[in-house]
Amino acid sequence: MVESVESAPPFLDRHGRMLGSLRLSVTDRCNLRCQYCMPAASYDWLPREDLLSFEELRRLAALFVSLGADQVRLTGGEPLLRRDLPDLVRKLSGIPGLRDLALTTNGLLLAPLAAPLRAAGLQRITVSLDTLRPDVFERVSRRKGHAEVLAGIDAALAAGFRGLKLDCVVMRGMNDDEIPALLDYARAHGAELRFIEYMDVGGAQHWKPERVVPAAEILQHIQRAFGPVSGGGAQGAAPSTPWRLQDGTPFGIIASMSAPFCGACVRSRVTADGHWFHCLYAREGFDLRAPLRAGLSDKELAEFIGARWRERDMQGALDRLRAGSHGAGEGDAHYEMHVRGG
Ligand code: SAM
Ligand code: SF4
Repeated sequence: MVESVESAPPFLDRHGRMLGSLRLSVTDRCNLRCQYCMPAASYDWLPREDLLSFEELRRLAALFVSLGADQVRLTGGEPLLRRDLPDLVRKLSGIPGLRDLALTTNGLLLAPLAAPLRAAGLQRITVSLDTLRPDVFERVSRRKGHAEVLAGIDAALAAGFRGLKLDCVVMRGMNDDEIPALLDYARAHGAELRFIEYMDVGGAQHWKPERVVPAAEILQHIQRAFGPVSGGGAQGAAPSTPWRLQDGTPFGIIASMSAPFCGACVRSRVTADGHWFHCLYAREGFDLRAPLRAGLSDKELAEFIGARWRERDMQGALDRLRAGSHGAGEGDAHYEMHVRGG
């Protein structure tokens, strides 16, 4: 059990942003090599002994929850590659005060795991789905497996996951002609599709500004196919701007490049080896594994985390937009999404 830090005031950073949502990466490994995320070449994965154990992950999650985070999302790399993931979900789902336990996956291994994950207490799943065409899938991800992803989505629905989200990174000349078809697919499956602007993170070796399809253009594609849309209003701390088709079908657009949501960003991320990053673009993280393994008490760890959050200043995407420095740091392993957890 984590010692109570009831007397802790709300943890606000220098821009008044709460310590809200924690993305916990459970592995840096992946069974795909998405162009926008990973280099194609072979990769030196983290040694297994560097990975946080399930007990360490549970302890960290409980600490963050005690400091005010009420959302934990498991990510990676590909989180379903972590052996016995339902056991971790069971441990996390028992944390008092954790309101929302979610998972982001590429879906490849989801079909056999959807029901066990739900039985273990997982509440929500987001599946990455960039295309409905197997050949495009292979080009984007440099691997086969499109049919498995679609089977994974069906299995998640059959297992009773509601509010399924599908995330699509839109790349010009790759899948931007599929925007209406993907929305049709999501509507038919009762899922919410979210279009994500292609970000200039380090693993995206071929990122170029002209490959980004900005939110306004995504919206034009949709209006041309489906008529007027409504929404686009306040989004709170959520990165996605919510929209609806005329028939009520919900969808979202994450304008990380053209309209970054840094001002409301309550997210932080812990890598699979326990480094805590305050921003997707932060060059430095805080090592939480060393103090965990050095035997610090929950109180000492909570104080450390709370103090670092109060110092949090970064607004990486906004700063890059203002400075016109998109693309800077490209190819820099520090920024890679499969390490950071997206
Ligand atoms: N492997 C899982 C998956 O693909 O869903 C989880 C990890 S992945 C790093 C998390 C999310 O980051 C995915 O939805 C992916 O689409 C997104 N992502 C990765 N690189 C991106 C980029 N360059 N721009 C925008 N989104 C990106
Ligand atoms: Fe793997 Fe997800 Fe990155 Fe694709 S986006 S390479 S599936 S971690």
